Amino acid sequence: MTGTPPVADPWFTIEEVEPGVHRITEPHCHRLVRANCHLVKGSARDLLIDSGMGVGRLRDAIAPLIDKPLVLFTTHAHVDHRGGHPEFRDAEILVHPAEAETLRTTADVGSLTFDQFDPDTLRGLAEAGFDTGGLLVDAVPWPGFDIAGCRSEGVEPTRLVGEGDEVDIGDRQFQVLHLPGHSPGGIALWEQGTGTLFAGDVIYDGILIDDLPGSSIGDYVETMRRLIDLPVRLVHGGHRGEFGGDRMREIASHYIAGRQ
Ligand SMILES: [Zn+2]
Ligand SMILES: [Zn+2]
Repeated sequence: MTGTPPVADPWFTIEEVEPGVHRITEPHCHRLVRANCHLVKGSARDLLIDSGMGVGRLRDAIAPLIDKPLVLFTTHAHVDHRGGHPEFRDAEILVHPAEAETLRTTADVGSLTFDQFDPDTLRGLAEAGFDTGGLLVDAVPWPGFDIAGCRSEGVEPTRLVGEGDEVDIGDRQFQVLHLPGHSPGGIALWEQGTGTLFAGDVIYDGILIDDLPGSSIGDYVETMRRLIDLPVRLVHGGHRGEFGGDRMREIASHYIAGRQ
């Protein structure tokens, strides 16, 4: 580790990827933990899906876009998706019961180093060619940012949601799908009328991770079978860019084929 990383201001990249849907990313986080958050504007409420690593101030970054009561939907409780939750304690915070306790527990992000990963994961990362001695960021959000003290405090969810529950933001209604595999309480938001799926880490256009503590390959295969039958038009994943239904079915089929 050499010196303090440079300051990156703004910390977040915000892009309107569809009318009323913004994708928010942290380009200075290592790609392993560079997740997407999505902000969906509703007529009655604004919906934030996940909150990133909690390194920069997400609330300030999205403040100009929010003018309604906020719902914070947690696709799952991995730290790259719930790190910013403490900034939104006044919002309605939704999570699946299987991951509520994780959300309540403060997440140590290991001084933004690879120390937060368990030994097996670390070994796998090293074998895959990652320099696991470095930092998980290549910049800091402001001068004097305390890398060593970075952690995400636990938050109390206000509503536990699972399969079939509805998230209503006025002019848009989403159905909760429970899609375990990557994590036990992985949930997605499905809008039937537009064929839109906010998928978290259940599916994105990249290598899917099924060997973390709490992952289940058997559940993941079932989840993929289910997704293949869903009339999806557009997927907003937890990492990387958007993709269409055909690509989603390709990724899901490829996953199933590789696990049999
Ligand atoms: Zn993730
Ligand atoms: Zn994850």
